[in-house]
Amino acid sequence: MPNPSTVPCQYRTGRTLGSGTYAIVKEAIHIKTGKYYACKVINKKLMEGREHMVRNEIAVLKRISSGNRNVVTLHDYFETAHNLYLCFDLCTGGELFDRICAKGNYYEGDAASLIRTIFTAVSYIHSAGIVHRDLKPENLLFRTPAEDADIMIADFGLSRVMEGGIGGDKLNLLTEVCGTPGYMAPEIFKKTGHGKPVDVWAMGVITYFLLAGYTPFDKESQQAEMEAIIAGDYKFEPHEYWANVSETAREFIRWCLTNDPNRRPTADECLGHKWLASATPHFVPDP
Ligand code: ADP
Ligand code: MG
Repeated sequence: MPNPSTVPCQYRTGRTLGSGTYAIVKEAIHIKTGKYYACKVINKKLMEGREHMVRNEIAVLKRISSGNRNVVTLHDYFETAHNLYLCFDLCTGGELFDRICAKGNYYEGDAASLIRTIFTAVSYIHSAGIVHRDLKPENLLFRTPAEDADIMIADFGLSRVMEGGIGGDKLNLLTEVCGTPGYMAPEIFKKTGHGKPVDVWAMGVITYFLLAGYTPFDKESQQAEMEAIIAGDYKFEPHEYWANVSETAREFIRWCLTNDPNRRPTADECLGHKWLASATPHFVPDP
């Protein structure tokens, strides 16, 4: 990636693609090349006291950019007096969340190939020492509107570059509570530390969501949801939503949702599970 450019007028921004807690993401065209990007515009005022989160996102992205075809690449970044700008690959296919909502749920074979692809990218970021910490269908984007488009992991705002050391691989003692309740692992609420296993847990929740069309711990309040997560209280019900889902898929979800992070499988172990190992890889030839 080039050094941060100091000339924001190299780009012209267009329509808004999405927004999150601290950022608006806009379509942007690089004037000189005519290439389109997704530009994450972060208002410095809103970020006051949290600038480290953005610096962290930049550091993480620089470290992993271009290393895996299913992780969004950061192409450029710069700042003005008021805003920070991060220019990413433009993903025009929307969020996985919207595709799940539009379909109701995924056929098991399609779900397995998608989960296998995402797990390959998760394994890549874990091997680079990074925990995403906010994996959810809103942060998984399709590169193009095509049905078989590449799926991309985005939004590394909450991830941290993990340091090695004793237990660094499994249990990094990062105890801030963060993320989205429905996808958060029990150890995050218990404040017993959370490292790479939180991403595997989130993948279990995403797999459940893909197959059923709703999340496993969904409750009327966040408190009740948190209690259900800590207790590991979920079921493959109502029956009509699960009738066509194999025992192998259920076993895979149960494995990802292992309560104890030390006993939960790693991303690589998940890739070796028969539900994923036998899945057709979700692969799109390069254009
Ligand atoms: P936040 O940290 O505020 O959640 P995200 O990085 O998740 O910000 O971006 C918010 C939304 O903007 C995403 O959910 C998605 O809809 C859209 N978006 C983010 N990155 C891209 C991209 N590279 N291409 C297209 N849309 C994007
Ligand atoms: Mg997001």
